[in-house]
Amino acid sequence: MTAPRSVLIVGESLAGTTAARHLRTLGHTGPLTIIGAEEHGAYSRPPLSKVVLKDPAADQTLGLVLDGIDVDVIRSAAVAADTRRRTVTTADGRQVGYDALIVATGADARRLAAPGQRGELVLRTLDDARQLRARLAHAGSAIVVGAGFLGMEVASACAARGIPVTVVDADRPLERILGDHLSAEITARASAHGIRFIQATGFATLTGDPVSGVALPDGTELTADLVVTCAGEAPCVGWLAGTGLADRLGVGIDHACATTVPGVFAAGDVTYLRGDGTRPDRRAPFWSNAVAQGRTAAASALGLPPPGPAQDDYFWTEVAGLTVKIVGRLPLLGEPTTVQGSVSDGRALLTWSQADGTSTAVAYGLRRPVAALRALAATSLPPPP
Ligand SMILES: Cc1cc2nc3c(=O)[nH]c(=O)nc-3n(C[C@H](O)[C@H](O)[C@H](O)COP(=O)(O)OP(=O)(O)OC[C@H]3O[C@@H](n4cnc5c(N)ncnc54)[C@H](O)[C@@H]3O)c2cc1C
Repeated sequence: MTAPRSVLIVGESLAGTTAARHLRTLGHTGPLTIIGAEEHGAYSRPPLSKVVLKDPAADQTLGLVLDGIDVDVIRSAAVAADTRRRTVTTADGRQVGYDALIVATGADARRLAAPGQRGELVLRTLDDARQLRARLAHAGSAIVVGAGFLGMEVASACAARGIPVTVVDADRPLERILGDHLSAEITARASAHGIRFIQATGFATLTGDPVSGVALPDGTELTADLVVTCAGEAPCVGWLAGTGLADRLGVGIDHACATTVPGVFAAGDVTYLRGDGTRPDRRAPFWSNAVAQGRTAAASALGLPPPGPAQDDYFWTEVAGLTVKIVGRLPLLGEPTTVQGSVSDGRALLTWSQADGTSTAVAYGLRRPVAALRALAATSLPPPP
């Protein structure tokens, strides 16, 4: 493949800025343009739920800088793409051509409000976090819909402010990703921190207009000053309508971050790794993947070999003051091998053997460099039968 003259990246966040930096590092000297929809430019999202909800000073520390690299930034949403003519149209009426396109438009929060129902709160952007922080300052009670990592982080922020908070989900806290064993421990820890959990028998619906509560399938109705939906994310693919690039899961990519359309690559939360008959399609909307895929998409756009795997299985979260770092495949099914410490004491190093022969290493409330966890995951053997 001949190296492309111009590269266009759509999405100015972690995957997009990583790709831009890597394109220049790899020697791309031609035109490089980023189209981004957010007026704040690129910033880091993990601190939104961990520190921004508590501390307004944190707003100033989130920027993902482009390190003075030579890139044109257009701050307007992409509204359409024509992959035959190789152009992208923006909301402010520009038409930007490209030789290679990197799709990095991430995801938005999945919403549960009925059409026309006002006042649903979510947490995906800096503006969402600011709005939520302002509401937390005056809230006497809160409900969080969704007990995944984001829901538990938001509930932790409520509890840290002394706000009584109820988390509602059909599955126990973090069970879908961390499995039974850690879910039980985390539920107990969260409860000790004042986070109440209600296991619903199905989907909760938001009540009130503006939203002021939830209704559970068994008829229970709950109300609170603050109701926050943390029900997962929806890939931002509306602007790709008609291109055949996207489906329900997002933009399908292979190990080189290539899509099914020549000259188009994708990275980060907008993507899923296409299955190959032995493996199912797999979404992994985490920080380390956006970085790994930003680099891979940059290399592939220049016709170079991928610098590493297109999915990097490192993830972390913070629940009720406890940090959990994980390297390896999720979910964590069955019992772990305890390498050090004990989960009930809130400090443990654990490994899980996965069905595909890989291992997952977890530092639970224990400070461990990610490199050490990677080494542990790489060397752990399955426990004896
Ligand atoms: C509150 C929160 C906490 C998190 N905590 C963790 C954590 O602890 N650990 C972890 O591993 N991961 C965490 N994540 C996930 C992590 O932040 C994401 O995986 C990462 O941000 C993905 O980066 P991305 O660049 O692919 O997408 P995004 O960060 O979603 O960025 C996509 C960008 O594209 C823009 N865009 C969308 N559509 C268009 C369009 N049509 N035109 C132009 N621009 C567009 C968006 O405005 C956005 O700026 C967290 C996420 C959130 C929201």
